[in-house]
Amino acid sequence: MAISIGVLITRSIWVGAVDGIELGAVHMFPEPGKHRVELKSLRPDEMLAEIRRMVAAVRQGAEVDCIGAGFPGVVRHGVIEDSPNLGPLKGMRIAVELAAALAADGIAAPVIALNDADALAAGIAATRGALEKLIRVWYLGDGIGFGRYPRGEGVGEAGHSVVSLDPKERFCGCGGHGHLEGICGNRAIRLRFLDREPEEVFASAHQGDARAADFVKLWHRALAGATATSIHLEGPGRFYLAGPNADFVDAKLLDIYLHDMVKMSPLEGSRFEIVPTSHDLALIGAAAGK
Ligand SMILES: [Zn+2]
Repeated sequence: MAISIGVLITRSIWVGAVDGIELGAVHMFPEPGKHRVELKSLRPDEMLAEIRRMVAAVRQGAEVDCIGAGFPGVVRHGVIEDSPNLGPLKGMRIAVELAAALAADGIAAPVIALNDADALAAGIAATRGALEKLIRVWYLGDGIGFGRYPRGEGVGEAGHSVVSLDPKERFCGCGGHGHLEGICGNRAIRLRFLDREPEEVFASAHQGDARAADFVKLWHRALAGATATSIHLEGPGRFYLAGPNADFVDAKLLDIYLHDMVKMSPLEGSRFEIVPTSHDLALIGAAAGK
């Protein structure tokens, strides 16, 4: 029986064997508890070699009919056009190079490359059936990913939506001013709060620290603002929230802000839903190869 393989690159490399929508063996690099390796310090050939080794480990000799690989950044037509957090991979023809690396192990299956958040959206679509025609998901972590299923031809970098015209808002890792990630991303929060961790900032807000509390409101308004833009472009619907910082979300507050921002009656009725185990879903979505 043939399986498909999902590959996901975040802070770690994840590789999983997928049978239909069932996730089998999953390997992770660096292994949990082992010495940390910054993925951006790996050369492209080192990353390819690591993925190849991990595919062999999860595959266990089984026939493979499809490989899908999700990377952060702008990934189109099999090429990583830009990936601000994984600089060395910029310009890499990942689909062709990964296919060539795996061919050396006798795997002739097609390789598709996609954005990591799009892989997550595909995984939600695959595991939850056809709940809705359009799946949109915010991945809240170091950066802010936006995934869409079905995948469009566009760039889809909604994490860099402009949500502020304040010229002081320039904490986005891409260097752009006023971006969603420049408010909601972990790096941006550390820059704004002199290296305090996001968890501490949210905890201070709950304990009544006024500056942190104001920021938590801004964080929710920024997310609501970028969501409102998506609604004004593509219509209302369900927005999934995933990633480690989904724990910070106050769904009620987010709803209130969103309703302040979307007033045209045909555009009303959107809602948010938090999805757990996003790595598993993204591996399943990548392996679906769509
Ligand atoms: Zn940006």
